[in-house]
Amino acid sequence: QLRQERAVTEAGDREGRPCKMPVGAAISRPQDSAFLFGRIISAPTRRVFPQRESQSPCQSAKRTEDRSPGVLNLNLNAISKKECIIMAKMYYAKDCDINYLNGKKIAIIGYGSQGHAHALNLKDSGCDVCVGLRAGSKNWKNAEEAGLKVMTIPEAAKWGDIVMILVNDEVQADVYKRDIAPNLEAGNMLMFAHGFNIHFKQIVPPADVDVTMIAPKGPGHTVRSTYVNGKGVPCLIAVEQNATGDAYKLALAYAAGIGGARGGVMETTFQDETETDLFGEQAVLCGGVVELMKLGFETLVEAGYEPENAYFECIHEMKLIIDLINKGGVAAMNYSISDTAEFGEYVSGPRVLPYEETKKNMKAVLTDIQDGVFAGKWIAENKNGRTFFNAKRAQLAKHQMETVGAELRKNMLWGDDTDLDTASN
Ligand code: NAD
Ligand code: MG
Repeated sequence: QLRQERAVTEAGDREGRPCKMPVGAAISRPQDSAFLFGRIISAPTRRVFPQRESQSPCQSAKRTEDRSPGVLNLNLNAISKKECIIMAKMYYAKDCDINYLNGKKIAIIGYGSQGHAHALNLKDSGCDVCVGLRAGSKNWKNAEEAGLKVMTIPEAAKWGDIVMILVNDEVQADVYKRDIAPNLEAGNMLMFAHGFNIHFKQIVPPADVDVTMIAPKGPGHTVRSTYVNGKGVPCLIAVEQNATGDAYKLALAYAAGIGGARGGVMETTFQDETETDLFGEQAVLCGGVVELMKLGFETLVEAGYEPENAYFECIHEMKLIIDLINKGGVAAMNYSISDTAEFGEYVSGPRVLPYEETKKNMKAVLTDIQDGVFAGKWIAENKNGRTFFNAKRAQLAKHQMETVGAELRKNMLWGDDTDLDTASN
């Protein structure tokens, strides 16, 4: 990965707003040249700009005086040029030409959370797709009923020019060795939605195939629901091997096909995607959030409040709050919540998550990921029959926050809608 010095130059962002953008690193990689647009920018992020400006544009954006309901007016002119630093190399819909997939056969291996979303989105985008499944898989019928071609995994791997592996990370190496590797041809493209098996060398592809990643930064069902709504889940792109020289444009076309380009595609490496993805889900998105909601729920219930109240307060409302942040940053949430709530945020947030201690713990989690300690544990857990994992899953299912939540959701007017593909609507 490039770690060279680079100049910082002035350029405009997509809307023509002035920004300071670092340039240089990306330019020295020859295969990138086709994707250098006027305003572009650089690659590697962490370790390169340690003294990034402390305030992001959204943090520094001022509320306007006119607080009309539901309308958030960020005063973008108030953002100084210095604060607007774009560090990553980004691609958007205009940069991702889906036509590069014309004539390409795309095999999606697996029909789970990501698999069904990629297969259906690509089909709806006009691509030639098939799904590779185990003979006798219960998903065979589902995929066929959704209008997809279905083959066994070896057949699909043979059929496809592009083979996207969307079976669980922990079984990918076995499936790859047994069913996929023998059917890969020179010039094919092997794709992943997460870097685990390449980065930790569980899968070592032959040198004559392209190896790329399009990793949606969201759950598979949301990849589907947002696509259907004309939006998309932002993705990361990484190219590990560019045997054909076409790996970037094909992977970007794939990102367009699943709707990811509508949200933005950021260039990274398999290593960085693996480490940041594992960190995000462990420390914040899944590990952090679930623990936070669970402890909040328990604290209220143990203090004698109704579990229903605790569920609404600490769990149901989480999505409603996050939707605002997703739309307009923390500023949008703070705009919509009361000033009382915002004051409490500043006073009690750091009390619940003590800054130094939490940061230290998060760094330890990251170190375990970077050193491969976490990967080693997860691989061993699978070899040992998942005793810890299964016990934890069963224990969580019995937790009152889950049982009370299920009852409350069932009785909501839309309670019969349990389709996860509409969960983000
Ligand atoms: P999943 O568990 O939802 O689905 C996996 C599919 O593989 C299922 O259809 C399952 O039946 C099949 N499968 C399981 N074992 C198999 C075997 N031995 N042989 C053949 N098929 C088998 O998986 P997922 O969460 O969609 O993850 C797929 C990939 O996408 C992973 O690399 C994951 O890291 C990545 N990813 C997932 C998400 C997400 O939201 N779930 C987000 C980003 C990236
Ligand atoms: Mg993730």
